[in-house]
Amino acid sequence: MKLRTHCPAAGCHAPLRGALSDGARLVCPACGADALRDAVPDWCVEGRVQSCPCCGGTELYVRKDFPQRAGLAIVIAAGLAALILFKWNVLWAMSVLAGVVVIDALLYLFVPLVTVCYRCRTEFRDVVRNPDHHPFDLATAEKYPRSDHVG
Ligand SMILES: [Zn+2]
Ligand SMILES: [Zn+2]
Repeated sequence: MKLRTHCPAAGCHAPLRGALSDGARLVCPACGADALRDAVPDWCVEGRVQSCPCCGGTELYVRKDFPQRAGLAIVIAAGLAALILFKWNVLWAMSVLAGVVVIDALLYLFVPLVTVCYRCRTEFRDVVRNPDHHPFDLATAEKYPRSDHVG
């Protein structure tokens, strides 16, 4: 599992990344704090995240690990290309647009999922999907006002 979070120590908040195996610790290189100090023993079972080891939160969501800017750039570039092509050959223009739809769908299929903690925004990659985790829900997110001072 790959984990991306921030140091929970007050006044530190250094960004932390780590590849974790079961039972491993994640120690902040800046201040030495244990980033997983709130982890419950069974926070991760068979590669499936049950609760957030950084804040103890039990509400997590899944999203596609896709750089949205890159996706947007592809769509805009294709749109411009299609606009130009429409003057020359409508069929080519339509082909470009159809191609983008296909590429988009393929990317979406193969892009991995990332699990994110609502409370502290810790990201978990290379985990088994927990069926209890659903796509981002705004109502749930509003229970956790965005703050850099978690813990
Ligand atoms: Zn730290
Ligand atoms: Zn958390």
